[in-house]
Amino acid sequence: MNSVIVVAIDGPAGSGKSSVSKAVATQLGFSYYDTGAAYRALAWAARAAGIDVSDEAAVVAVHHSMSYVASEDPTNQFFHVDGTDVTQAIRGSDVSGTVSAIAQHPQVRKDLVEHFRTVIAQCANPGIIMEGRDITTVVAPDADVRVLLTAAEEVRIQRREAEMGGTISAPIAQALKDRDRKDQTVVDFMNAAPGVSVLDSGPLNLEETVEAMLEIIHNQTGLTSAR
Ligand code: C5P
Repeated sequence: MNSVIVVAIDGPAGSGKSSVSKAVATQLGFSYYDTGAAYRALAWAARAAGIDVSDEAAVVAVHHSMSYVASEDPTNQFFHVDGTDVTQAIRGSDVSGTVSAIAQHPQVRKDLVEHFRTVIAQCANPGIIMEGRDITTVVAPDADVRVLLTAAEEVRIQRREAEMGGTISAPIAQALKDRDRKDQTVVDFMNAAPGVSVLDSGPLNLEETVEAMLEIIHNQTGLTSAR
């Protein structure tokens, strides 16, 4: 058993999980692990290999043959696949458009869940913030702190559009809705499981959401940030 404090954060696309998790991990001196990036890196590798992403065996084969390096430093995030830096590439619309298909495959999820648990077990910092869709329920249901970060769909779409340069775009909105719809057929990340705290980031700015998250962590673990 390790004494690392595990904070599991789930939520839909655009809920602010990554920004909030990075800020909280930085303030607490914790590791930060973005599980979505691992699914994205596999989607990138599957596309690079030119395989049919609906073919589970082919996707699993790509997964088993690829090397993946993911930064756990909240202030310096990078991801490498077979030595190639894919940090930017995995955020592209082609990867966003195929990642849900990859994430549907039960064997892919099984392998990645196992990998994420190893990351937690090997954490070298006093704690780790792990974020995704099924961290509070499947990957680490016994985490010290479990939070579902939500926000109304309109708010999430507005944030995604702001990230993409501020233009109101029907395709961006549709892509986010489609991805959430597909992802929800595999994992329920819109409703909190028993024991999971809900934090609605809708009415809050980033700083306020970070404060609220730190308060939840403080209330559940006694931990205070070192600021
Ligand atoms: O978090 P992000 O939006 O980058 O995740 C990309 C995709 O990875 C999601 O749309 C989903 O298909 C998949 N994912 C998942 N389970 C997780 C994290 C991400 O299925 N824990």
